[in-house]
Amino acid sequence: MLSLYAWSAIPSCYLRFGYDSSVLPLLLACVQSDSAAPVHDSPDDSGEEGVPSIVIIGGGPAGMAVAGALSSGRLLEAADVLGGRADRDNLTITFVDTPLQAASGIEDDPEQALARWADMTGGPPTDMTAAWLEASPEIYDRLVSMGVGFSTLSPDPITHVARLHEVSLEGSRITAALQEAIPAGVEVRTGTWVDGLALEDGRVVGVEIGDETIAADAVVIATGGFSGDSSVIEAITGGDPSFWPGESASGNGQALAWADQYGLGTDCEACVGWRWGRLGSPLAEQGLEVNLPPENAPWVWVNREGHRFVDETQNWSITLGSAWEAQNGPVALISAADMAGLIAGEAVDPDDAASWLPAEVLCADSLEALGELIAIDAKDMTDLRARLANADSEGTERPLQDPPDLESGGACAVQPGRIALKTFGGLAVDDDGRVLDLGGEPVPGLYAAGEAAGMLAPGWAGTNGVDGSLSAVVWSGWRLGALLAAGDR
Ligand SMILES: Cc1cc2nc3c(=O)[nH]c(=O)nc-3n(C[C@H](O)[C@H](O)[C@H](O)COP(=O)(O)OP(=O)(O)OC[C@H]3O[C@@H](n4cnc5c(N)ncnc54)[C@H](O)[C@@H]3O)c2cc1C
Repeated sequence: MLSLYAWSAIPSCYLRFGYDSSVLPLLLACVQSDSAAPVHDSPDDSGEEGVPSIVIIGGGPAGMAVAGALSSGRLLEAADVLGGRADRDNLTITFVDTPLQAASGIEDDPEQALARWADMTGGPPTDMTAAWLEASPEIYDRLVSMGVGFSTLSPDPITHVARLHEVSLEGSRITAALQEAIPAGVEVRTGTWVDGLALEDGRVVGVEIGDETIAADAVVIATGGFSGDSSVIEAITGGDPSFWPGESASGNGQALAWADQYGLGTDCEACVGWRWGRLGSPLAEQGLEVNLPPENAPWVWVNREGHRFVDETQNWSITLGSAWEAQNGPVALISAADMAGLIAGEAVDPDDAASWLPAEVLCADSLEALGELIAIDAKDMTDLRARLANADSEGTERPLQDPPDLESGGACAVQPGRIALKTFGGLAVDDDGRVLDLGGEPVPGLYAAGEAAGMLAPGWAGTNGVDGSLSAVVWSGWRLGALLAAGDR
């Protein structure tokens, strides 16, 4: 189809998006200048002669990022609002080499992260991983320039380098900022479920919504991952319905369903990220799982044999999720006094405690009694506490600064649930975000971004991915948008 699109208006976008890190700042600048200078006034330019049309399916962060890099097109979202699964405040996001890290005296750069990449993710880094990490400061700066604030840092679970940046409540929500950045030339339709792709001679020429076909030169699948797909939930939880927190279309596995339907390639369908804490449970509602002070957590995580198996600062970690499988279920130990403090601090209604305590928390007056309840020897627990109190901070175990007093006053054991946060596999794409067919060839007219494109799949970052991968989701959308805006289709 025609590629007359805005070549003269956005000269810095002539470059094709590659992995030369020296080009990345330029390309991000290109994306920014592009969205600031819409080329077409009419949002409804689809089919207008000489104007290529782009349809994005899915208005989560990836789809919005693609839209924000265009000057015209259509964004179709099944839900009534944009935002996808990231439409919440308490997001924690991985960046390296940021001003916040520098201000906190933390030395971090892509090389450091890449050196430990296999440890962090279960797979070696790729060119894509390196490019994303190199772009990290620019992604961070761009989000900040859009009004998103980052306040606190917490350590990466494996390397302990503080590179998980928490979105501050003072700033904009990331999803709100991405939504505001969508230019007027992009028509946004919410409440619009896309049924399928329209194909002609092996080329994607549009999307189907009921009986309607919307023509497009380029279609972007940004429908999210598959961790909410019922077959995935069945496979990994035995069908526990509380495992998946959303009822929306997000995480529905739509991209993989289309892969089956249209013969598209896929990458690492088994890559599902996890998180502890069952949303919807009173514990999670009270924020108990996420309010652990990172450097001084009054918790000890042990496995069913009573061995400590992870650092307490790893409570956010996907690694913990993997550990669940390996360790037959972890338990967090906390002193009864600290638990009471948490409950008081979080204003849990004591009258209501009976309805949730037995399910999620077991408390006893003595460690021996608790040991019987959770089938872990009390001596193992006291040995563990002593070991932690004397742990060498340079070693593999980090000492707790304030180990919980499990011996006097009683102790509690918490058995968190688990939840699928995200997926690290999806449609097979090439380095430019073109969707590949089963033979590994690009399907003309079809692209993918975000979780639908397995933004941190093995090709990117290994089977476990990294925590805080939203920066990769957004980056994959911006870079694809830049590519499409440059007319490189
Ligand atoms: C509880 C929770 C906490 C999380 N916390 C973090 C965190 O702290 N840090 C972090 O980095 N990540 C976090 N994540 C993961 C992060 O939210 C996702 O990785 C991110 O939202 C993926 O973005 P996406 O745009 O690829 O997909 P999604 O956000 O899933 O968006 C996909 C969109 O496509 C729409 N859609 C699907 N099918 C169709 C269709 N057929 N037609 C039209 N529209 C369709 C959906 O309605 C949805 O809006 C969390 C996830 C959850 C569930």
